[in-house]
Amino acid sequence: MKASRFFVSTLKEAPADAEVASHRLMMRAGMIKKLGAGIYTYMPMGLRVIRKVEAIVREEMNRAGAVELSMPVVQPAEFWQESGRFEKMGPELLRIQDRHERNYIVQPTSEEVVTDLARQEIRSYKQLPRNFYQIQTKFRDERRPRFGLMRGREFTMKDAYSFDRDLDAAKASYQNMAQAYRRIFDRFGLTYRAVAADSGAIGGDLSEEFQVIAATGEDAIVYCPDSDYAANMEKAEALAPAAPRGAATKPLAKTPTPGKSTCADVAELLGVPLATTVKSLVLATDVLDDAGNIRGSKVWLLLLRGDHDMNEIKVSKLAGLDQGFRFATTTEIDEHFGCKPGYLGPLNLKKPVTLVADREVAVMSDWTTGANEVDFHMTGVNWARDLPEPTIVADIRNVVAGDASPDGKGVLAIERGIEVGHVFVLGTKYSKAMNATFLDEGGKPQFLEMGCYGIGITRLPAAAIEQNHDERGIIWPDALAPFTVVVCPIGMDRSAEVKLAAETLYEQLLAGGVDVLLDDRGERPGAMFADWELIGVPHRLVISDRGLKEGQFEYQHRRETAATKVPAAGALSFLQ
Ligand code: ATP
Ligand code: MG
Ligand code: MG
Ligand code: MG
Repeated sequence: MKASRFFVSTLKEAPADAEVASHRLMMRAGMIKKLGAGIYTYMPMGLRVIRKVEAIVREEMNRAGAVELSMPVVQPAEFWQESGRFEKMGPELLRIQDRHERNYIVQPTSEEVVTDLARQEIRSYKQLPRNFYQIQTKFRDERRPRFGLMRGREFTMKDAYSFDRDLDAAKASYQNMAQAYRRIFDRFGLTYRAVAADSGAIGGDLSEEFQVIAATGEDAIVYCPDSDYAANMEKAEALAPAAPRGAATKPLAKTPTPGKSTCADVAELLGVPLATTVKSLVLATDVLDDAGNIRGSKVWLLLLRGDHDMNEIKVSKLAGLDQGFRFATTTEIDEHFGCKPGYLGPLNLKKPVTLVADREVAVMSDWTTGANEVDFHMTGVNWARDLPEPTIVADIRNVVAGDASPDGKGVLAIERGIEVGHVFVLGTKYSKAMNATFLDEGGKPQFLEMGCYGIGITRLPAAAIEQNHDERGIIWPDALAPFTVVVCPIGMDRSAEVKLAAETLYEQLLAGGVDVLLDDRGERPGAMFADWELIGVPHRLVISDRGLKEGQFEYQHRRETAATKVPAAGALSFLQ
């Protein structure tokens, strides 16, 4: 590819709504363009990365014996009514109507359609096992689309579905997929962890998430450095024996009063007995506008006063706050509590706190936060009063770093991750609901045992950037780079030698199967280098008159700070 014919469009500044590095850098590198909240155009530079992700996924899925098909993005509601999800699924499911007022949905995932396909196509045990997959557009009307491609509303997912004759066979299909996922994520060149996830009704070790490790990740993952134990926070907490998880959503019986409430009130509020041990605590509720859209979160923060030690929350920092406590944006709260940007998470207390009857509680109540995202959340949300009676969600963390690992092999550590893949045994949930059966060896109909397997194709590049960037821009692993090598001629318009050497090298690299771009735009060296450092091409070859006189090119890897000279004649073999 020649840069003059391609589309390079870099920006000096990122838009104000870009909170994390990957979002900022993808915007600045001209990889994506925003069309609406959570809806992006994949620009030529970004699409090349997405295609690389897809190619690796496709290759490994095919190798694992899955077969590709493509299911409709717009699906008749009747299939979703059959499974019950048309009614049950919340506002994340985009429901639409055609001119005859018939209901449709835009696929957030495709269990219903693939189950319908299987009940028609799979008749006999002889056709099993089967695994169908697609790489397709999905739509989820996310509560808070953010971080660019990380949590879009329209995005691309690889979704695969396995069909088996019994649970043992389904587990084998699941293991086969989990292994394919390891190969896929190894090939991407990212640091990741496969963690146990909650598998819903079925139980057992039948669901794993693949998490790319990054400080900005939305998920907390719990692992033991001395063993194989790793789980997401929800799973770890489900297994933890400690305090009951107060995830109950219930109307607030009594509004906490600043300076007056006690632990007894907190216990009552949460519906937990006094003497319950609480490790962290945030009470929050969504604030809705008249149309039912979420406009922010109303938060009651309960700080337990006493002799305990608060790790990340500096008590001194908060000391004066129960008088004039006031926050305008989640960012300010995040900064205060050390949460990741835009995320209002539970607060981890270093030492568990026990609710003791007469211990006083500092209650900061009645302040409202907004994400301040144009087009989605209200901007400038602040100190709202007279809101409808709120619902309280209590979030008590039972698992903190330093707890004993459930396998008894050490203590737990916690880090943050980005969920890029998820494998799952579904059992007969959909086949029963939709009556998808096959005939077994005895000629008896049996329900198909299913599994489903997702990879966030368009989330993956964002996750890769969170892990691989510096102050100059993106640093792509070779496997994901939009171009593997960029050839930068200096003074190509002035020097016939440079032009010839650059074009010859470019042709040779192309012929050698190298994904190379020749920057023939005639930019000055500083601007040219800055562009490719921002875009993150891992290998750069510079051709100049001076170098050519010595028979040399300059080579620099994106991670290095200085260039090395390579013999012009051997540049091709050097790169391979
Ligand atoms: P999350 O917990 O981040 O909301 P999920 O558990 O709802 O994700 P799954 O239903 O497991 O997602 O979908 C499979 C994969 O699709 C996820 O592992 C993730 O990589 C990707 N994905 C899900 N939602 C989005 C989104 N809004 N934008 C981009 N990718 C997404
Ligand atoms: Mg989700
Ligand atoms: Mg998830
Ligand atoms: Mg998931």
